[in-house]
Amino acid sequence: MKKKIVALPGDGIGAEIMDSGLKILNEMIVKENLDFAIEKCHFGGAGIDNEGDPLPEKTLEACAKADAILLGAIGGPKWDNAPKRPEQGLLALRKALGLFANIRPISVPDAVVHLSPLKEENVRGVDFVVVRELTGGIYFGEKELGENAASDLCSYSKIEIQRIIRKAFEIARTRKKKVTSVDKANVLSTSKLWRKTAEEVAKEFPDCQLEHQLVDSAAMVMIQKPKEFDVIVTENLFGDILSDEASVIPGSLGLMPSASHSEKGPSLYEPIHGSAPDIANQNIANPMSMILSVAMMLRQSFGLEDAAKKIELACNCVMDKGILTKDLGGTASTSDFTDAVLETLKSQ
Ligand code: ATP
Ligand code: MG
Repeated sequence: MKKKIVALPGDGIGAEIMDSGLKILNEMIVKENLDFAIEKCHFGGAGIDNEGDPLPEKTLEACAKADAILLGAIGGPKWDNAPKRPEQGLLALRKALGLFANIRPISVPDAVVHLSPLKEENVRGVDFVVVRELTGGIYFGEKELGENAASDLCSYSKIEIQRIIRKAFEIARTRKKKVTSVDKANVLSTSKLWRKTAEEVAKEFPDCQLEHQLVDSAAMVMIQKPKEFDVIVTENLFGDILSDEASVIPGSLGLMPSASHSEKGPSLYEPIHGSAPDIANQNIANPMSMILSVAMMLRQSFGLEDAAKKIELACNCVMDKGILTKDLGGTASTSDFTDAVLETLKSQ
């Protein structure tokens, strides 16, 4: 049956890198004979400009019916004083789709290991995934703000913990089969329940290994020995901080894709960076974050592991030839890099 993919180019460099991602996707559709239909919709600032809403009704309907969603990036100074902000659209979409699991793979292509702020020997071969719980914890707990005191309640139900830990094990199963559950179980009750639940869920995955790490220690290990990790799973606040820490390792935001999953509905794939208005419309953005988001979609939503690997290999092959965008110290434009990946895929 035909699979439907909704593409939300969004704003700034979002539209440029979406063009790149869709060129690669269309090449794979032909090459692998995939029965995919792609529908483009307005979203974010583009939604406000074209339809008066960051998440237009038509866009939400299309997303809800889709098999997977690709998002470029949204926002920019143009909408700073608009009555509705582009970011509201993204929050509303995440909520409507129930996206509770955010996945960020971290790897460093050999061609750019020297750009990492970490020591080269610690970075070469880094390959891990951060799985962050996205809809629970302290961000969503009861809040009080007084003159002289304030509080934020952190709470997690067992069900919320089980589903995110399961997601981490499912991903680990396709990798090195090691899950590092990160918590603060020496202090926090939510973390005690988290750790106990992780132990229970681990029994469903006897082929995988589970270890626990306190969040303060995990933050250090990520800098000192990032190669120790395979899959890190953690709650919302810790995940927010650790996934941003991890994003610094490769040396450019332009390399990094992400996925957000719900229990049953479509998943959303997007670069981790924003719309980068400072470099928009100059054909200099690095499209790899979007191209790798397409690869993640093929792997995680459609089980097309081979197709995903082909795209990832093609990107690395192009970088090995020294075809690099400006953020990586090169001179290739967005379209140069995209065309080089296309050529490589065609010649495979
Ligand atoms: P947001 O608030 O939407 O997350 P931000 O202020 O964090 O946005 P980003 O848009 O994520 O900013 O990007 C930060 C900077 O990183 C940009 O200004 C840009 O110079 C650089 N950058 C981000 N993505 C890319 C890319 N794909 N290619 C090249 N440079 C990029
Ligand atoms: Mg940002």
